[in-house]
Amino acid sequence: MKKLIAGNWKMNGGLEANEALLRGIAGGLGQPACAVAVAVPAVYLAQVQGLLQGSLVQLAAQDVSAHDAGAYTGEVSAAMLRDFGVRYTLVGHSERRQYHGETDALVAAKAQKALNAGITPIVCVGETLAQREAGETEAVVRRQLAAVIHQVGQCVSELVVAYEPVWAIGTGKTATPEQAQQVHAVLRAQLAAATTQAAKVPVLYGGSMSAANAAELLAQPDIGGGLIGGASLKPQDFLKIIESAQ
Ligand code: PEP
Repeated sequence: MKKLIAGNWKMNGGLEANEALLRGIAGGLGQPACAVAVAVPAVYLAQVQGLLQGSLVQLAAQDVSAHDAGAYTGEVSAAMLRDFGVRYTLVGHSERRQYHGETDALVAAKAQKALNAGITPIVCVGETLAQREAGETEAVVRRQLAAVIHQVGQCVSELVVAYEPVWAIGTGKTATPEQAQQVHAVLRAQLAAATTQAAKVPVLYGGSMSAANAAELLAQPDIGGGLIGGASLKPQDFLKIIESAQ
């Protein structure tokens, strides 16, 4: 299976900056061995859709509503994302769980709405530092993924999963390749118990992945790609990570 490298721009960017960033990425992309996507703020989906015409980089959103339409001020539905050629959407990023109170049930409902619209949800799971120190890592990530597996039934094989230890996101502290692999193996086993097609599901690692550490992380047997925050805003770093994903 091809690896997937997805950039998460978070709440960064602007019309000019987006164009410059994508020009920088296009300039060095060539024919990557992996799939590549960028998850951009919702207001820039139309702009980035235009800029990515003819590119191998695919468009992703950072979130999706758990509702189809109606009185949900500020939300963006999966059908709306689809209108702009969105291929993937993050669901359950730890910043949404933490700052917007997203529960496992809500994340599962969002994953379902994305699938219904033909968009692949990138389901983010991960433990906090306190949970890791309490020895709860495995239980936490299994619980978070179980909610989505329970919701989507036979569609488990259409998911992408991203293991993102919360303590490693934006902190410069990366999980060691061994720590990451250990959790990825747990998630892979959980997927294998849910579907005979688990091999189709990439399990990405995210959390301060950089040009310097990507190759070692991506060489782990159960790491199927990366979800990249800060380094995805720097074309040379993002390209180096893409190169590392063989
Ligand atoms: C993320 O936002 O998903 C992420 C992994 O961020 P960073 O790479 O900056 O830690």
